[in-house]
Amino acid sequence: MTDTSIDYARQQDAGDPLAIYRQQFHIPPGPDGDSIYLCGNSLGLQPREVQQLMDEELEAWRELGVEGHFRATRPWMAYHEQLAHPLAALVGAQAEEVVAMNTLTVNLHLMMVSFYRPTKERFRLLIEKPAFPSDRYAAESQVRFHGFDPDEALVELTPRDGEAGIEDEDIAACIEQYGDSIALVMLPGVQYYSGQLFDMGTITALARKQGCAVGWDLAHAAGNVPLALHDWGADFAVWCSYKYLNAGPGAVAGCFVHERHGRAFDLPRFAGWWGHDKATRFQMGSEFVPMNGAEGWQLSNPPIFSLTPLIASLSLFEDAGMDRLRQKSIALTGYLQALLNELLAEQVRIFTPGDPTQRGCQLSLSLAGGREHGRAVFEAISDAGVIADWREPDVIRVAPVPLYNSFEDVWRFVDILRRQFT
Ligand SMILES: *Cc1c(COP(=O)(O)O)cnc(C)c1O
Repeated sequence: MTDTSIDYARQQDAGDPLAIYRQQFHIPPGPDGDSIYLCGNSLGLQPREVQQLMDEELEAWRELGVEGHFRATRPWMAYHEQLAHPLAALVGAQAEEVVAMNTLTVNLHLMMVSFYRPTKERFRLLIEKPAFPSDRYAAESQVRFHGFDPDEALVELTPRDGEAGIEDEDIAACIEQYGDSIALVMLPGVQYYSGQLFDMGTITALARKQGCAVGWDLAHAAGNVPLALHDWGADFAVWCSYKYLNAGPGAVAGCFVHERHGRAFDLPRFAGWWGHDKATRFQMGSEFVPMNGAEGWQLSNPPIFSLTPLIASLSLFEDAGMDRLRQKSIALTGYLQALLNELLAEQVRIFTPGDPTQRGCQLSLSLAGGREHGRAVFEAISDAGVIADWREPDVIRVAPVPLYNSFEDVWRFVDILRRQFT
């Protein structure tokens, strides 16, 4: 039995050592007080510190012009470097293995240039179905770019009939079956639709044993679940920074390249001047000499104004610590699950895995009563101040984020949802 009283939710918040971080964010207003923002899986909220940091960069540009590259408080020349340590901590990497650059899909392509290198015997690319469209388009276009037929080369891991998640044993069987013809395994850490968290360590090990390269799309995993990319031995990973990392719309993404490739200068790569050895970059020579590590995959000088919010956000992650965040996340999402099961079992089916080790903070809910009814419910809860997202045909995704959501948010959400069914 779950205590369904609001007092219980408030007690949990009062005892929560991470509750203080909510005040570090702007919570969008709702019809009465704060909205119930459960959409951090889509666009994270703005840390309050962003405004000041942005003002400082604008001032540096205003007052210093080009000299800001050297004389700004955070000199623009080495701007991205200050993100390496906090990003590395977040994804379980060494500082040299990560870089903030570009956007997710761009990084996916750059990584596939280096790590999807199909041959006649080993040409397949393993993805999941239904993959996020951008990943599917990127994978398919890479396959075609190399002159292969996507119908043959793309292997799509699909949930069993009637299931939303993909079983571990099905993943293992697929890697076993196709392993010696797979050039690259490219899967999400957390599936965007179902919220399923994959066992990245085990899958990476299985695939590497078969000689496949392994890349992870961490769009829904970075800042949501603990990661250990270096120890797992993944070849690469990419993620965006506007979801759980709260760096604002279209923010600069992240990229991981394992240490063992960091000095593999013979790897095919698409090069740009910011990937060139910084000691000689400005000699403007014609021969490309890549930097060591992930930085060697950079193309352009970085967009300072889109990196700035990430500095503010990552300092909160550093401060709160991913382990503590995960602990709260498991409690918060578990509370949401328990309330829904207690109060709305007939009306709402949760199709995210019930086991907390197989999910992050998001729960995906399928509403009873068909699409029209579901859509009406979604609109009604939106009017009442819930910010969540709707996916066809009848799905609401909600993500209580441990950095800024409260137990009371969860309680209020369930209360508003419940009122639509009575
Ligand atoms: C959010 C998301 C993207 C978005 O790609 P962008 O290049 O940042 O627009 C791609 N893939 C997955 C799995 C995502 O969740």
